Amino acid sequence: YFITFEGGEGSGKSTQIRRLAERLTASSGREVVLTREPGGTPGGEEIRALILNGAVDRWSPVSEALLMSAARRDHLERVIRPALARGAVVLCDRFADSTRAYQGQGGAVDAEFIAALERHVVEDTRPHLTLILDLPVAEGLARAGARAGGEERFESKGQAFHERLRAAYLAIAKAEPERCQVIDAAQSQDAVAAAIEAALAERLGL
Ligand code: C5P
Repeated sequence: YFITFEGGEGSGKSTQIRRLAERLTASSGREVVLTREPGGTPGGEEIRALILNGAVDRWSPVSEALLMSAARRDHLERVIRPALARGAVVLCDRFADSTRAYQGQGGAVDAEFIAALERHVVEDTRPHLTLILDLPVAEGLARAGARAGGEERFESKGQAFHERLRAAYLAIAKAEPERCQVIDAAQSQDAVAAAIEAALAERLGL
C-alpha cells in the first residue's frame, strides 16, 4: 500500500507518521518504508536543501513546482515504486497534494499546469490513502513557531498563505473522498494516532 500524509505547518505529520511506522512494523508483518518529500533520495534531499535553505523568495512558485517534481520523480523511481513492487507499505510524508496546495493554491501556479505536471511525473503511482492532518492555521503556526529553527520561510508567508493551504487540502479531500481522509489534528497526539489507526483499519484492513 501507498499511504501519504499531508497537512500544513505544525500539523504533527512527522510525529504521527513515525508512530504509525513503528506500529505497523510491529504488528503488520510487512516491510514498512517511511520516507518524505521533498527528499527521500540523495538527489531529492539535495533539492530539498536547495529549496528550504534558500532565501525566502529565491525561487518563483513555478520553479519551485518544477524542483518539487524533479525530486518526486527521483523518489518514485528509486524508492516508492521498488518498495511497492516488493509488497512493502510505503508511508510518505507529503506527496503530490503538497504541490497542489503549496505551489498551486499557495503560490498561485496555474492549476492545469500543476495537474499536467502531476500526471506526467506520478503516472499511475497514486496513493491508496491520503491522510490530511487538519487544524486551525493559528494553532499550527503556534506549534511550528515553538519548534526550534527553520521556520522563517513559512512564517514570512503570512496567515493568508496558510489559510489558502488549509482550504486547498480540504478541497482535495472533498473532491477525492475515496482516497482522502481528513484527520482532526487539533486533538491530543494519542487521539490523532487512534484516528489514523482507525482509518487504516477501515479503509485498508491494516
Ligand atoms: O513536511 P515538512 O514541514 O518537513 O515540509 C518541509 C517544507 O517544505 C514545508 O513546510 C513546506 O513549506 C515546504 N514544501 C513546499 N512545497 C511542497 C512541499 C513542501 O513549499 N510541495
